[in-house]
Amino acid sequence: MFGHSIYVRKGYHLSKPKLAHELVHVLQIERACLDKVVSLHFSDLAQYGYNDAPLEVEAFEANRNYSQSW
Ligand SMILES: [Zn+2]
Repeated sequence: MFGHSIYVRKGYHLSKPKLAHELVHVLQIERACLDKVVSLHFSDLAQYGYNDAPLEVEAFEANRNYSQSW
């Protein structure tokens, strides 16, 4: 995901939960702006690690929500 584009490598199965996760990142960028989100995210990754970074925690919630609807 970068800005308003979600890139998927050939052969990768973009399931509904994974797409929901990436769309949350698009929403996060809409709420702030790309530059702020990127710098905040890198700072958070260094401080919390991937799984506990606040922007990822919010996006993982979308994974869970859409996993249950299938
Ligand atoms: Zn993510």
